[in-house]
Amino acid sequence: MPITKTTTRPDVNARRVINGADADVIQLHPMKHTFAWDAYNAGNANHWLPTEITMMSDIEQLRNGRLTEDEIKALKTVLGFFTTADSIAANNVVLAMYKHISSPECRMYLLRQAYEEAIHTHAYQYIVESLGLDGGEIFNMYREVDGIYSKADFILSFNEGIFDPEFKTGTFENDQKFLENLCVFSLILEGIFFYSSFAVMFGFQRQNKMVGAAEQIQYIMRDETQHLNFGIKLINTIKEEQPELWTPEFQQHIVDLVRQAAELEYKFAAEVFPRGIFGMNAEGFRQYIEHIADRRLQRVGLPPQFNVENPFPWMSEAIDLTKEKNFFETRVTEYQTGGTLNWD
Ligand code: FE
Repeated sequence: MPITKTTTRPDVNARRVINGADADVIQLHPMKHTFAWDAYNAGNANHWLPTEITMMSDIEQLRNGRLTEDEIKALKTVLGFFTTADSIAANNVVLAMYKHISSPECRMYLLRQAYEEAIHTHAYQYIVESLGLDGGEIFNMYREVDGIYSKADFILSFNEGIFDPEFKTGTFENDQKFLENLCVFSLILEGIFFYSSFAVMFGFQRQNKMVGAAEQIQYIMRDETQHLNFGIKLINTIKEEQPELWTPEFQQHIVDLVRQAAELEYKFAAEVFPRGIFGMNAEGFRQYIEHIADRRLQRVGLPPQFNVENPFPWMSEAIDLTKEKNFFETRVTEYQTGGTLNWD
């Protein structure tokens, strides 16, 4: 689109998460959505690469038969879910969200987020390769394993309208469609669908098993927590900027989707861990999923549906630990250009 030559500066208060002025997307300053800039800086401060984490003890444990059949199956299946989820997330950021987000500071964060999704996929690739697992098997699980297929199919069904090259925000119907995609992507994909798999990986960690893979998943969870926080900010800011979109029917629709998602996540957990794992059984998973689903709803101002206690309180410790852990003690601190990073 052509730009107009002018000395008139845009009004920062007119900036919008969606449906802002076209010319505005090029001009980072002055900022309105400072939460996005803060998130961008936090993402940079948390930078990590999978190859900085040694997989030696994981490799030895697997070789020496320290994992049971059930544990190997659980490890593979959560990897199978993760590989798919982060690729879907990357595509959604780049192909569905970026184009329609009209705030340059929000776009800055999306660029950082897109790279983090790539790092996550890299982590799974690195784990699969280090452990000598069959990459074709793991990366194709979303087509083969019911519990993963159902979750991927659910998420992808919300991309259909948004991925259409003709799709544009600016009408009530399309703006709601965009907001629906954002709610599904942030609250459900990033906010619910990762969490029973996170719980399994921290289950391994608590047994001192697969600690290299688990450490990577810990960094991934830290990134995902930021993605979720940013997504929630976007949703709440769009609600403020265009309150007409947040109708009672729309709110009920989002609540219904979160309830459906909680059911899908429970079915996934029950399929993957039919006999339970590390002391977590099907009922525990159900309650944990319901607990986090309520928390996601509340953060966008929707009523909790399940009102259950957190049966895995150590999960919040795993999250807190990631914040407190001195990351720099265990990693190579300088990024080299034109060379590889080595452990010594
Ligand atoms: Fe993400």
